[in-house]
Amino acid sequence: MSKIEMKTPLVEMDGDEMTRILWQMIKDELITPFVDLKSEYYDLGLKHRNETNDQVTIDSAEATKKYGVAVKCATITPNAARVEEYDLKEMWKSPNGTIRAILDGTVFRAPIIVKGIEPCVKNWKKPITIARHAYGDVYKASEMKIPGPGKVELVYTREDGTEERELIHNFTKAGVIQGQHNLCDSIESFARSCFNFALDTKQDLWFATKDTISKKYDHTFKDIFQEIFDKEYKEKFEAANIEYFYTLIDDAVARVMKSEGGFIWACKNYDGDVMSDMLSSAFGSLAMMTSVLVSPQGYFEYEAAHGTVQRHYYKHLKGEETSTNSVATIFAWSGALRKRGELDELPELMKFADNLEKACIETIESGKMTGDLARITSLENPSVLNSKDFIIAIRETLESYD
Ligand code: NAP
Ligand code: MG
Repeated sequence: MSKIEMKTPLVEMDGDEMTRILWQMIKDELITPFVDLKSEYYDLGLKHRNETNDQVTIDSAEATKKYGVAVKCATITPNAARVEEYDLKEMWKSPNGTIRAILDGTVFRAPIIVKGIEPCVKNWKKPITIARHAYGDVYKASEMKIPGPGKVELVYTREDGTEERELIHNFTKAGVIQGQHNLCDSIESFARSCFNFALDTKQDLWFATKDTISKKYDHTFKDIFQEIFDKEYKEKFEAANIEYFYTLIDDAVARVMKSEGGFIWACKNYDGDVMSDMLSSAFGSLAMMTSVLVSPQGYFEYEAAHGTVQRHYYKHLKGEETSTNSVATIFAWSGALRKRGELDELPELMKFADNLEKACIETIESGKMTGDLARITSLENPSVLNSKDFIIAIRETLESYD
């Protein structure tokens, strides 16, 4: 059988622990037997990040700007325990944070819906897509521990040397402070990516912040969205018969729970981080969610929304069997290959990506699944497969198509 040709390489960002094991299995069983894979490989495994002083992460993001499409494996964000475990030179930053800071943009996360895995919120009939702003706020904050009494201020020094000050707090005892920022052009591109994605997918767009409390910071987000909507998108939304709807974050959370789904929920960086984990768990499993970073320049980085599944990895190292769900990582590959096919006009590659996704869904719907799904499925007598056998079952489904 001849393999499907590619034109432009994918930027391949390998990662850590259990997802690194899955990564290789996915390539061996589901990608390279079918596609003449062209990729530029970057090893973002923690060991290699440490060896390169994290330069490899920056290089991989720069390569994404060069080629346009990347696929990323989950990676460890080091904490104190990891510094010891991997004997790190430094507590390197989150690779996702570094990549997002270089590419800017918005992360779209949508649940992968299969029959037999029903959302635990009964009224959710359609997927809810989170659009997470990927720049700034608490992810680029400066923090200080305040040891004791003293005055803390925000100081803006203009280029001409003049200053503007705002009191944060007159400390009479110990405390903590944090300084966050964002950039108007990043918020503008966030808004445009959300409006475009809503039009592309013909879904309503919701946006929410805490503008009643944060009258300058969050209010700026609200105002920028509204201005861009009124100027550039209002008529297009009317023509597409979809709505843009702004509300307070508390109200949004309450309404989401009562909704039937089928819309995009735009979230500030932190809200999107937290709410996407809540949504994916409520829709079934962290491993049943797609995630793609779309930059304002039109670069795409596909990944799984979950982490490196450390607990399973330690079992794997002890030689024990694991049943780790590879669906989100497979969908990262299919998403990236489909986008490459679209950009390079390779319909066969796009068709392969569709089939790969279909094979994942049909395999699960036929009752073959990993432990995380078997625990929650409404299908009777599911067969629980180990990590490898699940991938092989997907391959068998895929091969049955031609
Ligand atoms: P995690 O890897 O997402 O795993 C949390 C738990 O969720 C697992 O212990 C497992 O539950 C379940 N789970 C997640 N993905 C699963 C899958 N594919 N199949 C089956 N079960 C799955 O999060 P974590 O343990 O908090 O973080 C581990 C490492 O990942 C950390 O070093 C963190 O920095 C990193 N991380 C990376 C990313 C990223 O690169 N995008 C995102 C988040 C975290 P059970 O143990 O109950 O089976
Ligand atoms: Mg998170």
